[in-house]
Amino acid sequence: MSKDYYKTLGVDKNASDEEIKRAFRKLAKKYHPDVNKEEGAGEKFKEIGEAYSVLSDANKRRQYDQFGSAAFDGTAGAGGFGGFGGGFSGFGFEDFDLGDIFEQFMGGGSRRRNSNRPTKGDDALVHINLSFDEAIYGTEKEFSINIKDKCSDCNGHGGHNPKKCSTCNGRGRVIQEQRTILGMFQTETTCSSCGGSGETFETTCNTCRGKGITQKKKNLKVRVPRGVDNGDQLRMSGKASTGTNGGPNGDIYIEFTVKEHPIYQRDKSDIYIKVPITITEAILGGKKEIKTVDGKVKIEIEPGTQNGDKLKLRGKGIDDEKLGRKGDTYIIYNVIVPTKLDKTQKKLIKELSETNLYNEDQFKKFDEYN
Ligand SMILES: [Zn+2]
Ligand SMILES: [Zn+2]
Repeated sequence: MSKDYYKTLGVDKNASDEEIKRAFRKLAKKYHPDVNKEEGAGEKFKEIGEAYSVLSDANKRRQYDQFGSAAFDGTAGAGGFGGFGGGFSGFGFEDFDLGDIFEQFMGGGSRRRNSNRPTKGDDALVHINLSFDEAIYGTEKEFSINIKDKCSDCNGHGGHNPKKCSTCNGRGRVIQEQRTILGMFQTETTCSSCGGSGETFETTCNTCRGKGITQKKKNLKVRVPRGVDNGDQLRMSGKASTGTNGGPNGDIYIEFTVKEHPIYQRDKSDIYIKVPITITEAILGGKKEIKTVDGKVKIEIEPGTQNGDKLKLRGKGIDDEKLGRKGDTYIIYNVIVPTKLDKTQKKLIKELSETNLYNEDQFKKFDEYN
């Protein structure tokens, strides 16, 4: 009996591997016996599988194109297709992502197979609040966090007094046979009694109920580097939940929230300070002492200083540990117009107002267009 595998998959004789794969995938989903309860669906599914097993293999496809399906019937020799029901090898299983369909067939066996894969522990995020000074000068902060950790009662083993697993005889893996519509399947899976370790215990650990892992509150300390900014994150590698099956521990991410300073404005490692000065200091100039994050600095106000004028104090900004350099501090002058004058002051200002203060360039330029 000759079968037309191309017709079964609904593809052209010249179909590419990709087209064949796509057609198979679509049909396999449609006729999968778990989904399709119609009569004959199972038979159809089997045919699709057979067609695909041949057409997806370059060698078999060539033989089929030459000799037809007879090349693969029953008694097929060494070069032929070893009978569809014989096992999964004919299916091109390894390189084909049909997890959803085949996992059902395997009765979850393939899922269990992954359960002892090394897995990284969960990461954790911790928020820490800092004062402005703590962020600038660095500090040490304590915090506590709940993480999954190795059970200390059983040292993470899950039980006491280990013995050889009787289910797998210490191998850690078992052969499972399952009769399905596609024939008998033999799959090797992780032993579910011992989880693949080959060992079980006389008594299960009560503390962790055999899991080897418990939830623990851990108290930790973190050194906050100088110059941390609002929203910065710091990673404490391997300090979060324990990994499983030899996987690495998770990491703790610490995110900082920095409180604003009442008069300093920060931009990365620079500091801006708005310094109020009187109108006479602005007019006549003067001296002032300014507290920066890098200590006190004496500044000289130039005569004729305007509102908003800037003065750069090089290297008087934040000593940023991460950047490895010091920022600058900028003074921004804020000329304050007095609102609470006493009698004498009013008189003096009045006298001043009777003099000509309009001979500055700015007035002339404005008047030209006004
Ligand atoms: Zn076992
Ligand atoms: Zn335990």
